[in-house]
Amino acid sequence: MKKVICFDLDGTLTESKTVITSEMAELLAKLQKIKKVVIIGGASFSQFQKQFTSHLNYFDNLYIMPTCGAAFFKYENNKWTPIYQLHLSPVEKKKIYEAFDQAFVDIDYHNPELTYGQIIENRDTEISFSTLGQEAPLSTRKSLKYDRRPEIITRLKIYIPEFSIALSGTNTIDVTRYGIDKGYAIEQLGEYFDVSIGDMVFVGDAIYEGRNDYAVVRTGIDTVLVSGPADTQRFIKSLLVLP
Ligand SMILES: [Mg+2]
Repeated sequence: MKKVICFDLDGTLTESKTVITSEMAELLAKLQKIKKVVIIGGASFSQFQKQFTSHLNYFDNLYIMPTCGAAFFKYENNKWTPIYQLHLSPVEKKKIYEAFDQAFVDIDYHNPELTYGQIIENRDTEISFSTLGQEAPLSTRKSLKYDRRPEIITRLKIYIPEFSIALSGTNTIDVTRYGIDKGYAIEQLGEYFDVSIGDMVFVGDAIYEGRNDYAVVRTGIDTVLVSGPADTQRFIKSLLVLP
């Protein structure tokens, strides 16, 4: 019997950058009555609030790890309280921005004509590039034809090998301090809850090499690959009916 159930956010609990459904929120409330529930997403804390936490009304056993585990919060005294936050320094941020600029020059990359919001976002514990911008509608992101993120990542790895760089979501690249990824997040949870890796499970839609969920695999945690929120709901229901 698992004690800690960890979920990815985008594509797992919600559609990418889309508000959680009331049905999913209700299932998570039920699950918290019997398990510790942790959400580990690439999104920033403010995006977590917009898309996830502000639509919930039960937080008794809920923990969130925005920016791939570079930050860890629990709900305490009616507010989200950090357990830790690994802020990037101004020097680190500058280095990451410059690496993106250089990578774009190297591969002759230009932003699409139509973009939505910031292309590169400072999430404080993470820097995130989104091909179409941070606010791009899901349908537009899904219809993106040429994905040049792998080429960009290849160049970034040359300029900033001291950072972790991963594909995320539908059109994003996340950069965090080296070693800070969803695997690190799982290790932190083991220590924090004082449980073994066998007591935890990770549920995600992108547990594939090169994608940000994949980092959990090195910890040896049991994983459940889902095709999307409907599939995740089926998994949660299967936990709820267990004796
Ligand atoms: Mg995902």
